[in-house]
Amino acid sequence: MHTLSACEITRRFVKKEISAVEVAKHFLNRIKSIDQQVGAYIEVFEASVLEQADRLDVKRRGGEPLGKLAAVPVAIKDILNIKGHRTTCGSKILSNFIAPFDATVTRRIKEEDGLIIGKTNLDEFAMGSSCEHSAYKVTRNPWNLQLVPGGSSGGSAASVAAECATLSLGTDTGGSIRLPASFCGVSCLKPTYGRVSRYGLVAFASSLDHVGPFAYRCEDLERIMEVIGVHCEKDSTSSPVPPFKPVVWEEKFGKGFRVGVPWQFLEKLSPESRSLFDRSLSHLKQLGGQIVDVDLSILDYAIAVYYILNTAEASTNLARFDGIRYGLRSGRAKTLDEVYDLSREEGFGDEVKRRIILGTFVLSSGYQDAYYHKAQKVRQLIINKFDEAFARCDAIAMPVSTSGAFAFGAKQDPLSMYLEDIYTVGANLGGLPAISIPAGQLQDGRPIGLQLMSPQHTDAELLAMGKAFQSITDYHTKRPRI
Ligand code: GLN
Repeated sequence: MHTLSACEITRRFVKKEISAVEVAKHFLNRIKSIDQQVGAYIEVFEASVLEQADRLDVKRRGGEPLGKLAAVPVAIKDILNIKGHRTTCGSKILSNFIAPFDATVTRRIKEEDGLIIGKTNLDEFAMGSSCEHSAYKVTRNPWNLQLVPGGSSGGSAASVAAECATLSLGTDTGGSIRLPASFCGVSCLKPTYGRVSRYGLVAFASSLDHVGPFAYRCEDLERIMEVIGVHCEKDSTSSPVPPFKPVVWEEKFGKGFRVGVPWQFLEKLSPESRSLFDRSLSHLKQLGGQIVDVDLSILDYAIAVYYILNTAEASTNLARFDGIRYGLRSGRAKTLDEVYDLSREEGFGDEVKRRIILGTFVLSSGYQDAYYHKAQKVRQLIINKFDEAFARCDAIAMPVSTSGAFAFGAKQDPLSMYLEDIYTVGANLGGLPAISIPAGQLQDGRPIGLQLMSPQHTDAELLAMGKAFQSITDYHTKRPRI
């Protein structure tokens, strides 16, 4: 059952070949036997998923219409609200916070009969690239338990990679969906900014945050995008566009298409990753793609811009965690000031504190012009350069990272961790859709993803391209031995 695609599970369920309770039980058992090693889940919804499955079986028996995700087990990153369950954000400060409402995405998944099976681990408040900065546990890479799964949505990527969920949701502020997808050998989409609602997502950096899905196959990403890619009135940045609708590859690109490659920006790539990247380009050519050179050397500034803007936004977004309104309150506090100071001191981990301090600095009156405002201007220049590049091509191909997954503790210096995001932050600064799809393995077995990005609101075209790639390759059919 765990090897089936989401589309196939729903098909069999609708045809009454399997029941939702069978699916739920199968996955719960699988999680029990495997997740002790992987650690993808912070919480497994044993009772509620069985209840949900039971209700769904009753619905089917009653002949009612069944949803687009009927009987598909979906795991949710623990930074998205599910009513009545904890939303910890991987942080001590929210260890006792129970969500009073559903995020729009979780509401939509329930409405379309997806089975919400649990919450997955993450770097605290989604800040990180390795999943090592969770206050709760370590998540391991299912392909090699000595390696990180990537982050910050490491639990969501690992849950799908280990086939302990068929679909999962993560969030991507600077690469947190694409990096773990690449490291764990699964597919993903970071949608266009505003395509998927952020209502009920705990904000990290609001102008950069995106919600998006993981699955092995692009057709499953399409399926869940039909569910979550809808306008949401409760998110003021949700684009007022028609719901996501898959496009047919032949109609869009059957006569040929152009893929831009920013060659001069790819010098940092290891030789082995470079040869896998070249092989991916040859697959795109096989599909009718013409490779053109695009100039994105401005992305040399992307990391600097991204780490100024995300810290600035994080420092204001996280001001609400003060020991008064949400979550943990220090037992040592005797005065009001101590409630604020000690609750934050005890509740936040080092990386979160580092970002709040840096963000407060770049927003301070003396430095706002030198850092924050300048970074905003460079962000606009980056957007302009992407526009110029897309005048020459339909999609841009890039690696996801300079190499594959790394060992626990390998990146002690925060800056070296930040540099992992070199190829991913551009799409967030531009609000562009981007996918990562499995593109093979390094000689030591570590999976590597291919990243494709395209103009805003061409998410469906991008997934069609991913599907076409998967129709002539078998990288996405490889599974870790676990
Ligand atoms: N690694 C990046 C960071 O630490 C991206 C995080 C994310 O996308 N949530 O900010």
